[in-house]
Amino acid sequence: MKGPDIVDRLAAIVGEDRVTADELERALYSQEIANLPPEVVYVFNVRPDVVVRPSSTSEVVRVVNLARELKVPITPRGAGTLGLGGSLPSKGGIMLDLSTMNHVVEVEPGTLSATVEAGVTWEEVREAARAKGLRVGAYPSSALSATVGGWLSGGGVGIGSYKYGPAADQVRWLEVVLADGKVVETGFRGVMDNASGYSLTNMFVGAEGTLGIITRATVKLHPRHGDVVPTAYAFEGLHEAARGILALTRSPVVPYNISFVDGMHLQNLEELGASVPDKAGAVVTVALEGHPQEVELAQRETEAAMGSGGGRRLSDEEAAESWDNRSYEFRVKRLGPGLVPGSVFVPAAAFEEVVDKVYEAVSDLGMKAGITGLVADRNTVDILPYYIVDDRRMLKGLAVMGFMKRLTDIALAHGGRPVGVGMWFAQNLGRVHGEGAHVMRGLKVAMDPEGIMNPGKLVQVGTRYDLAVPSTVMGAGLELLGAIKKTLPADTEEGEMGGPGGMGWREGRADGDEIEWVHGKDEGKRSGDGEGGGR
Ligand SMILES: Cc1cc2nc3c(=O)[nH]c(=O)nc-3n(C[C@H](O)[C@H](O)[C@H](O)COP(=O)(O)OP(=O)(O)OC[C@H]3O[C@@H](n4cnc5c(N)ncnc54)[C@H](O)[C@@H]3O)c2cc1C
Repeated sequence: MKGPDIVDRLAAIVGEDRVTADELERALYSQEIANLPPEVVYVFNVRPDVVVRPSSTSEVVRVVNLARELKVPITPRGAGTLGLGGSLPSKGGIMLDLSTMNHVVEVEPGTLSATVEAGVTWEEVREAARAKGLRVGAYPSSALSATVGGWLSGGGVGIGSYKYGPAADQVRWLEVVLADGKVVETGFRGVMDNASGYSLTNMFVGAEGTLGIITRATVKLHPRHGDVVPTAYAFEGLHEAARGILALTRSPVVPYNISFVDGMHLQNLEELGASVPDKAGAVVTVALEGHPQEVELAQRETEAAMGSGGGRRLSDEEAAESWDNRSYEFRVKRLGPGLVPGSVFVPAAAFEEVVDKVYEAVSDLGMKAGITGLVADRNTVDILPYYIVDDRRMLKGLAVMGFMKRLTDIALAHGGRPVGVGMWFAQNLGRVHGEGAHVMRGLKVAMDPEGIMNPGKLVQVGTRYDLAVPSTVMGAGLELLGAIKKTLPADTEEGEMGGPGGMGWREGRADGDEIEWVHGKDEGKRSGDGEGGGR
């Protein structure tokens, strides 16, 4: 049942003003932070039939029961910032917008925790904690809009993960609505969740809403001991920065956060009018926290580690600017109509080599990709290349997916993995988890036999026609797209991004000065050479 009937029945559950089948609203909910190529609609039905905004767990239960009765898929959505089709339907159905479940239920200093509804943003949790003299451990850099339920469901790492762990480590307890309409509580609100039994909390973290809908969570909080002290270092290139980062991961200190950007990203920022360090082909920002003596010791160790890669310490002002902008790295999206990000995890020891391979792929495909990223733990680097592209142009938008495939291959070949999200990366499940993928698919069938919970994601490549696309076919398709990208003129020739490839540092500043690239494969080239973009 679709159309008016379902709308009426949903309105009876949540109220008329919280349901809509309006054409424009449905069109808006068929988009998320990064556009998908428009041709995606031939494969996936990304437009929901109806949008519902629940206000309580009991309403979510009734919506799920209705969906099961009518065999209509449900796509849960927070702020839609995960990208790559994570919060888009694959076969229409009900879009469940949880951003309206946005109350901080309580902050409990006694148990160092905050219980919140799933649609509360991480920034709101941080504010609520701050008001009680406490703080959140780690949070996504998209905290200003990303919801608690969304980050947990994506299972990411974020700012502070180096010290406090990934998304899963930030929670003690979850309330989840299952596909059969039951409400399950996982973990313990007041103490650590390491009881005998399977870790149900971890089962829902990273599940992308395919096993149930998170409606509430208890987030761990921490006492505040001084402010975070940022330091920043400039390197000749990302390759050299990778060496400094590896040394830091082997040192005795545990910084709060370690992040990095490459020369192309700095160039993009400069183009936006931001001030960036002179002669920097990469910048690493290391945020420290703790007792002043601890911070002092950590600063010395950090400086020595960064020095091993030739890093030079930037001023406190430059470090503060880099840290203050930690949630705004993707402002570079303003440079083009669209931005497609990728993300892979690689071992810290392989980071240097992976950097070279990624640049090789970028150059091979004639792309202009910037690279940002963070160090997730002592052994894990999260590399986030991004590509500014007019994704309304079919071949460019689609072909960039070929780059994502190359990126995945590089990560896997170096003992890493793709950060699997959305409808595009379900094909990697077997490559990443091996036999474990069968266990996951079995779990999905056991918990959601009707297949109503966010179908076509994570454990299955599902399309609008109910065709399960074999992962090999999807993989070959992405390879083909990479090959198509190779046949297109390189970005420099088209002037889409301007500027030479990702490596290298610049001589001179943006304000009127010519920018000269003096290191890397574009050696000697000037920014004006055959390029558009006004630089
Ligand atoms: C500028 C920028 C910076 C980012 N920085 C980071 C970062 O530092 N770390 C990181 O990990 N990611 C990062 N991301 C990716 C993304 O922002 C995060 O994963 C974010 O936490 C997703 O939250 P959301 O509310 O937007 O979720 P959505 O994108 O709406 O949803 C994410 C997934 O979870 C499902 N879902 C949403 N809510 C629920 C729920 N309540 N129950 C069950 N399933 C649900 C959706 O169906 C979807 O599959 C960044 C993105 C941007 C644009």
